[in-house]
Amino acid sequence: MSAKDELEQIARQVAQCQLCELHYSRKRAVPGEGPVDAEIMFIGEGPGFHENEQGRPFVGAAGKFLDELLAKINLRRDQVFITNVVKCRPPSNRDPKPEEVEICTKTYLERQIQTINPKVIITLGRYSMGLFLSNAKISEVHGQSFWVKGRLIVPMYHPAAGLHQLSLKPEIERDFLRLPELLEKSRHAVQNNAPPSFDSDQPAKQLSLF
Ligand code: SF4
Repeated sequence: MSAKDELEQIARQVAQCQLCELHYSRKRAVPGEGPVDAEIMFIGEGPGFHENEQGRPFVGAAGKFLDELLAKINLRRDQVFITNVVKCRPPSNRDPKPEEVEICTKTYLERQIQTINPKVIITLGRYSMGLFLSNAKISEVHGQSFWVKGRLIVPMYHPAAGLHQLSLKPEIERDFLRLPELLEKSRHAVQNNAPPSFDSDQPAKQLSLF
């Protein structure tokens, strides 16, 4: 099966998935979208109201801000892959439960990452950061890069955080402006077949699900 077919199959499976209780409250599941050869993958937390209505990721106010951030580094949404930790909206926007995160990431997100094989993964918010960096505090590590199992991970604040807390907006913009440089770093390492297992500036305690 080609990578494109695999990605489409994952999207079809997500649309009909009943593996956790979030399927009861969703209107439309949100598998994520973007090109199969995307070099950059964004992982948010879960669909919100508008995403649940439309079945597409980051289409509300936070999505508009994400588009603006991408434009600052001359990228368009259709050049990156955007998805979430859980693919269905938690009721009343509650936090996803650990068992929901576990089953959804094992069943879908891991396969999306393997299929797309992005050069850089940007985690948006603490839930997706927690998949790769345990015990990290987003206020301390945002915008830094970490090699986790041979893949470059960059934790960032969720764009919604910048809308709710205006003081974070400039920090989020600064982190985004570093993205082209980090992508180049990853390309260089992959080209030389030498992505390090661990980055020099990574926190001492770190675990990965992947
Ligand atoms: S959140 Fe994930 S595991 Fe749960 S029903 Fe939706 S797609 Fe399936």
